Amino acid sequence: METRLFINGTWKKAANGTFAVKNPANNEEIGQAADGGADETKEAIEAAEAAFPSWSHRTAGDRASYLKEIHRLMMEKQDELGELITREMGKPLHEAKGEVAYAASFLEWFAEEGRRIYGDTIPAGSPDKRMMVLHQPVGVTAAITPWNFPQAMVTRKVAPALAAGCPVVLKPAEDTPLSAVRFAEICEEAGLPDGVFNLITGEDAAAIGGELMGSQAVRKMTFTGSTGVGQTLMEQGASDIKKLSLELGGHAPVIVLDDADMEKAVDGTVASKFRNAGQTCVCGNRIYVEEAIHDTFVDRLKEEVEKLQVGDGFAEGTSVGPMINKEGWDKVDRHVKDALDKGAELVTGGRGWEENGGWFYEPTILKNVTSDMIIMEEETFGPVAPIQKVSSDEEAVRHANNSPFGLASYFFTESMSRGVKTAEGLEFGIVGWNDGRPSAAQAPFGGWKQSGIGREGGHEGIKPFLETKYISIGL
Ligand code: ADP
Repeated sequence: METRLFINGTWKKAANGTFAVKNPANNEEIGQAADGGADETKEAIEAAEAAFPSWSHRTAGDRASYLKEIHRLMMEKQDELGELITREMGKPLHEAKGEVAYAASFLEWFAEEGRRIYGDTIPAGSPDKRMMVLHQPVGVTAAITPWNFPQAMVTRKVAPALAAGCPVVLKPAEDTPLSAVRFAEICEEAGLPDGVFNLITGEDAAAIGGELMGSQAVRKMTFTGSTGVGQTLMEQGASDIKKLSLELGGHAPVIVLDDADMEKAVDGTVASKFRNAGQTCVCGNRIYVEEAIHDTFVDRLKEEVEKLQVGDGFAEGTSVGPMINKEGWDKVDRHVKDALDKGAELVTGGRGWEENGGWFYEPTILKNVTSDMIIMEEETFGPVAPIQKVSSDEEAVRHANNSPFGLASYFFTESMSRGVKTAEGLEFGIVGWNDGRPSAAQAPFGGWKQSGIGREGGHEGIKPFLETKYISIGL
């Protein structure tokens, strides 16, 4: 695999050499990635800038043909790309292959959405005027992505940018650069014109990010990651009012009302909570269950959670892989210990260990959890389900909304009227009603409050890469 940077359609050695990429399941080196820095980032920005006029002037259908070819190649290589995700990120292989299909779906969706960048005509206030509105590409786009979906976070940003006519400079997470390198190789194979997609891998995120944010040629930054880095990017972007899309931390509540279908509630909670070992920003992080069904729910959830198998993502039957690194594991351990110290009761799990350099944590359920525990305030990013008993729908929604975060939320009820009230009462960008798997290319993804700015996916997902131009014509 390439160990160079992809700039202006060619592979270029990084001045700083390369850095090792490791498998989180066993800490073994699986490859090297180029260690790009500020100078190379500048070069990539210049390449994107040079590519902008011709890329933005192509027809939407022409751009779509490249996106569709990238989609086709990704699906053709689904198994291989999935194996690479498992190797560098740790998630179980079946989830990784699923991620490839999800990642590819953004190429297909935005290939089509690019053809639907409609404008408006507006009835003018006088007979000798005409008014119209166009949407044009914002310009060179920078994308910074996290490690938890090494392929899907890349395409969810790159596909709409390219479809809209914006060349991209991508900086993937230093933990998972290889999936992005494979994506660049696929773009090359698809014949994408030079400079339209550029890749800067590197360990010095602050240097690369600083160059991207400091450049006036970069008109748009789209970022997924921690709230802290999102704040830094906002500060850095203040000087030139850079357009920003931010997809930041979540702290998703799961509410189980007393008329819930128990199987749907248990299945949805397991799907939301334990997918990717709990390492997604939409994972259920705190569970509120109404008194009447609390004990039954805990028992059924325990049964299902005890079936989950922890281990290397390549091992047959694994449903929960390793934590991405020791820091991630430490956070999970700290949250569980804090809850137990403050009176929570362990229902199952609670054990974490290191094995061959990989950091694993058993799927865990805690009950008798209270709002003063860290786990009910902070995103855990691990396989722990803390359950708090509540006595009414209103109390559940109040707890759910009592957070600075507002990305995903989930609730379970069979009642139409309780469901509508609950859905409307939740201050979150995504609500799963009897659904623990709401993410889809055709739906808007993003958060309220400190969970971010803007939406990815859906017909809204292309708008952040467009500027609006109002043209007033005097006849
Ligand atoms: P996580 O906690 O998920 O690792 P981060 O926000 O640290 O979240 O990482 C998400 C992405 O942000 C990664 O690609 C990382 O390299 C990048 N990143 C980290 N620090 C900075 C920074 N100062 N400027 C720009 N990007 C950064």
